[in-house]
Amino acid sequence: MKIEQFPEYIRPNIMPEPRGRMVYRCLGCNNELDITRLLYTCPECGGVLLLQDKNVKAINDVAGETWRQIFDYRRMLNHKALKGIFRYYEFIAPIIPLDRIVYLGEGHTPLVEANDRMKEKIGIDFYFKNDGLNPSASFKDRGMACALSYINYLAKKENISNLLSVCASTGDTSASAALYASYLEDFLKSAVILPKGKVTPQQLSQPLGSGAKVLEIPGVFDDCMKVVESLADHYNVALLNSKNSWRILGQESFSYEIAQDFDYDVENKAVVVPIGNAGNITAIMSGFLKFLKAGVIERLPKIVGVQSEHADPVYRYYLEESPDKRSFVPVDVQPSVAQAAMIGNPVSMPRVIELVREYNRMAGEKRIFVVQVTEQEIMDAMIVANRNGNIACTQGGESLAGLEKALQAGYVQTGDVGVLDSTAHILKFAVFQEMYFNNSFDPEFNVRPRPELKNAPIMVKPEKIRKYPGPGKPLQGEDMKDFIREMTFEIAKILGLEMK
Ligand SMILES: *Cc1c(COP(=O)(O)O)cnc(C)c1O
Ligand SMILES: [Zn+2]
Repeated sequence: MKIEQFPEYIRPNIMPEPRGRMVYRCLGCNNELDITRLLYTCPECGGVLLLQDKNVKAINDVAGETWRQIFDYRRMLNHKALKGIFRYYEFIAPIIPLDRIVYLGEGHTPLVEANDRMKEKIGIDFYFKNDGLNPSASFKDRGMACALSYINYLAKKENISNLLSVCASTGDTSASAALYASYLEDFLKSAVILPKGKVTPQQLSQPLGSGAKVLEIPGVFDDCMKVVESLADHYNVALLNSKNSWRILGQESFSYEIAQDFDYDVENKAVVVPIGNAGNITAIMSGFLKFLKAGVIERLPKIVGVQSEHADPVYRYYLEESPDKRSFVPVDVQPSVAQAAMIGNPVSMPRVIELVREYNRMAGEKRIFVVQVTEQEIMDAMIVANRNGNIACTQGGESLAGLEKALQAGYVQTGDVGVLDSTAHILKFAVFQEMYFNNSFDPEFNVRPRPELKNAPIMVKPEKIRKYPGPGKPLQGEDMKDFIREMTFEIAKILGLEMK
C-alpha cells in the first residue's frame, strides 16, 4: 500500500527519521561511551556493552496503541528499508538513515502452529518460529542486518574506504557475516575464523560461497573467540560477534515480531530459546522489556533458555536460587549435536545477569527459566518435530526438548502457549540427522536412534532387470518395457500396494 492510502492521522509516523541519541553503556562500570567509534568492550574496564537510546522521550511521546498501529500499517508498506527488522526502526537503531539500511530479506519469519498430534504429545499448544527461513538460514541475519547497516552508515559518514570485518563462529555467524559483507563489497572485506571440524559442511560452504577469507584453527569456539578478541584489540577490524552490541539490537526484532504476530498479547506465551554465546536470549529479553516500557505490550511473556548437558554454564549458574551466592564458572564443552550453541564461556553472560534481574523485577515474578537437556533428547525432539511438518535444526530440537523439560519442572503450565525458536534450518545440520539415522554418533555424544524414528533410502534393483538406463544412455524398446515392469512390481511389493 502507498502511504497516501493510510489514514491521515497515522501518516506522519510511518516514515521514521534518525532522531535517537544512542550511546554504548558499559555493564562493568556503567560508563557511557560515544558511538562514533566501533567498540566491543569498555576501554576503561573491559566490560561488555549494550546500546541505549537516550532519547526516551521520542518513544514515550507516542502511546502504546499508536505504536501498535504504526507497526501494523508498516506491515502493509512497500519500502525497502522498512521491510525487514527495521519495521521496528525506533526500537532498534534510530540513528541510521534509511538509505544506509541493508535489507537482504531477513526477519518476519513464519510462526507455524504445531499440528494436533504434536500438541497432544507435548501437552500444550505451541508454535515454532522458523528463523531458519532467514537469508543465510539462521537467526543471525537479524543481528547482522543491524550491525552491517550501522557499519554502512559509519563508512559513509567517516569516509571509510577499506574495512575488514572478522568474526569467530560456530558456523552460522560466519555464514551470515560473510553474506552481508559480500553485499557491501566495495569498502568491506570479510574474514571468518572457525574451529576446524566443528562446523557442518553446509556451514563451511556458506562463507566460502560468499567470497570471505575462511580461516580454520584447531580448537573449539571459545578458543576462536579469544583469538578474534585479540585481533580486534590490536588491529583495525570490525568485530561481528555478538560482543558487537549492534547485533543485539537487530536480534531484538525476534521479540517484536512475536508480539506483533500475537496482536501484542504475549502474557500467556513462553518463548523457548537455545543458549550458546547468550546473545540471542539477551536480545529477546531486551526486546520484550523495551516493548513493555513503551506500552506496546502490557505483560512480559515467560522465557525459557535451554542448554545441552554438554555445554551448560548458564544453566549451572541459575541452579543456585539465591542471587548473592551465584557465581559464574565457564565450563569445558563436550561435543554436542547443538553445535551452534556449544559454548562454555558465553560472551553475553554479564548482559544475561543484568537483564534477567531487570526482567523478573519488571514482571513482578520470576519469568525467566533455564533448563538442561540431554543430547538424546535434543535429537529425538528434532526428528519428531520434523516428522510433523517442521524444519527444525538441532538447536530447534533443543527448544522443543526444553519446552518438555520446562513443563515437567512446572515452569510452563497448561494454558501457556509455547513459542519455540527454531534458530536455523535443518539443512545446515543434516549431518546430525544422518548420524541419527545411521546410528553412527561418536560415543561421547551418547545418542542412540529410537528405531521408530530411523529412516533410510531403500535401493531398488530387482535381479530380473538386465540393463539400467544412465545419463546419455536411455533404454530402448523391450529393455525399457522390462525396466518399467520390473521396477513397478518391485516397488509395489516394497510398499505393500494392492492391485487395482
Ligand atoms: C548462534 C546460534 C545459537 C546460539 O545463540 P547465542 O546467541 O549464541 O546464544 C543457537 N542456534 C543456532 C542455530 C545458532 O546459529
Ligand atoms: Zn567499563
